[in-house]
Amino acid sequence: MSFDLLGLRAELLKAVEGEGYTEPTPIQAKTIPVILEGRDVMAGAQTGTGKTAAFTLPMLEILSRSRHEQRGRAPRALVLTPTRELAAQVGESVRTYGRNLRLWAAIIYGGVGINPQIDELRRGVDILVATPGRLLDHAGQRTVDLSKVEILVLDEADRMLDMGFIHDIRRVLKLLPGKRQNLLFSATYNDEVKRLADGLLHEPAVLEAARRNTPAEAVSQVVHPVGQTRKRELLSHLVKSGGWRQALVFTRTKHGANRLSEQLLKDGISSTAIHGNKSQSARTRALAEFKKGSVKVLVATDIAARGLDIESLPHVVNYDLPNVPEDYIHRIGRTGRAGAGGTALSLVSPEEREHLTNIQRLLGRKIQVEEVPGFQHEASQKAAPAAPRAAHQRDAGKGRFNSPGGFRRPSRRH
Ligand code: AMP
Repeated sequence: MSFDLLGLRAELLKAVEGEGYTEPTPIQAKTIPVILEGRDVMAGAQTGTGKTAAFTLPMLEILSRSRHEQRGRAPRALVLTPTRELAAQVGESVRTYGRNLRLWAAIIYGGVGINPQIDELRRGVDILVATPGRLLDHAGQRTVDLSKVEILVLDEADRMLDMGFIHDIRRVLKLLPGKRQNLLFSATYNDEVKRLADGLLHEPAVLEAARRNTPAEAVSQVVHPVGQTRKRELLSHLVKSGGWRQALVFTRTKHGANRLSEQLLKDGISSTAIHGNKSQSARTRALAEFKKGSVKVLVATDIAARGLDIESLPHVVNYDLPNVPEDYIHRIGRTGRAGAGGTALSLVSPEEREHLTNIQRLLGRKIQVEEVPGFQHEASQKAAPAAPRAAHQRDAGKGRFNSPGGFRRPSRRH
């Protein structure tokens, strides 16, 4: 399959070629022709599947078919994203793919001054990439006119709903003209996403990048059982003994992210944390340092990491398991992208067994368990202090996590 056959103009093909893409990803091959027909689309695609280009390229094609030259023009395409990082990244993609076209994009999100955004909107834009809250601030101040929007994209719709944006989304929808093309992208489906889709999409084409709730094939997943108190030590050990180049590490809390990053620094591993309490400029700086390669480990919370565009990351670590199982899939989507292999490691304490069970239920399979020599022993003793001595001895040969307070290997369950 070649990009030439998708119906995109030469300026877009040139930009795609400039990015070094030789062929469309499956979700791009499926969605681009359908979007160009003007149909509504419901696409199941995680980060890493090439989903951004899957809606950006046809959007740019449609907009450039009828260019509006007047100054101060109102946006004709609106992309809503859950986080500012994702807005920034989608905006960057719009600019990259549209660099040979005369279309203007503005990126609108909160946490930064509103006045430069007002100036930009006043000068006129064709494409608006925005987070819902700040967009509504502009709407309230009448500094944005959404009455000319022809194409609406909801990117990472599942996450927007998880983050409680449903009311904001509905308020934005009320400001849009009734006749428009709607594209909904979501990594996972649940009843809430379906309800949103039902109310929004008109006879949509339903397209999927991969099977529902299935992580990229290229990602190998492993669980390392370990006691909570030894997780940091195990992580440092894995990074050092494995000669890791770079890793993205997830923690559940902002505080945990900061603390871990500081501890890794003490262990001699360059590290930085990225989370919602940090200013936008601090987050951008942390991400830039990581991308440059001057930082080995980026520690992030789920919300901050959402949509981070880091290419071919070899290791993703769940330092804490997420309590929302879908977050696990989002997290491990940061590795194994665009054909490159990747490993997703989860450091799982006995207290997190229930989270693991829920994640495995969502995946529809067990994740391979590998004990790391030197870490399973004490972990198990700490994890199951009440286990009778005889039980410990009996289980010794099989590894401690077969003991009552611990894990079972999938093969031993049956
Ligand atoms: P996304 O799923 O939009 O976050 O994209 C994941 C990564 O894949 C990004 O770094 C893109 O630059 C890259 N990408 C998008 N389309 C292609 C393609 N057709 N071939 C190779 N890489 C791509």
